[in-house]
Amino acid sequence: MSFPIILAHGGAGAPNRDSDGPETACKHALKFLTDGEIDAALRAVIEAAVVLEDDVRFNAGTGANMRIDGSIQMDAILATSDGRIGSVAAIEKCRNPVRVARLVIDSPHVMLCGDGATQFARHRGVPEHDMTTPKAQDRHAKALERLKTGELRPTEQKWRGRGMHGTIGAVARAADGTFAVSCSTGGTSMMLPGRVGDSPIFGAGTMCGEHGAVCATGDGEEIIRRLASMRVYLRIAGGEHPQQACEAEVATIPAPYVAGFIAVSAAGFGMAATKDEMARAALEYRDGKVSIQRPAS
Ligand code: ASP
Repeated sequence: MSFPIILAHGGAGAPNRDSDGPETACKHALKFLTDGEIDAALRAVIEAAVVLEDDVRFNAGTGANMRIDGSIQMDAILATSDGRIGSVAAIEKCRNPVRVARLVIDSPHVMLCGDGATQFARHRGVPEHDMTTPKAQDRHAKALERLKTGELRPTEQKWRGRGMHGTIGAVARAADGTFAVSCSTGGTSMMLPGRVGDSPIFGAGTMCGEHGAVCATGDGEEIIRRLASMRVYLRIAGGEHPQQACEAEVATIPAPYVAGFIAVSAAGFGMAATKDEMARAALEYRDGKVSIQRPAS
């Protein structure tokens, strides 16, 4: 038997001072991780993700970014160490995309995208929800203005257009030694409709297997190119401590891209991000005591 651990993050670049969000998510998820019911790790990462999706400070669920055309399309995934995966990409008008990912696990498929994902949610009784927030409208207006004026940030030069990002995610280890990961995002600030980032792609934005669970955040295109979560996972499987594995992968991300990782294994947990900027928290539950680790704000 191992002791339960859950970690959550609010996205690479989300200020460390917002780590109260992930901490609240971990504390809320603890009861699901320790209630002795089946699927503790999976239920815990879902509940942690829902708390963060509902927190408007983070770019997922409520608070998700708008695309260049003003639409809001979101990506989310769940995966477990016994091989279950459920993923949605470019889904619209769902308050909690991670709950739709849970429904996909029970379908014959691994991943649903676009209108098909949205229709699936409706058929499964998920109500339509307008995701527009003043924050998203403001970011969208500023992004369009930068496009018009050409005053793009270094990371926006390509299309000229990527930009601010953010994502939420959680990894957990249950007392029975099983693992699970959740991840949910509104993508980046400048995106074409239909763009899918790393988050819902198993091996890129997340990875889970018998050796542990990994969740990534940051520049999605670069994370996909590198299969970054898989790389962290392979380090862990090869015997590295998750902290070392997360730090090593962050160190390989070429500027101007940024990335952050949280990971858990039988050996413990790790969290690391470019310039150490990522709202995050880790909770361990040992001998009836809770201990929390998060950046000093
Ligand atoms: N990785 C996410 C994406 O590219 C954004 C982020 O994590 O900041 O969609």
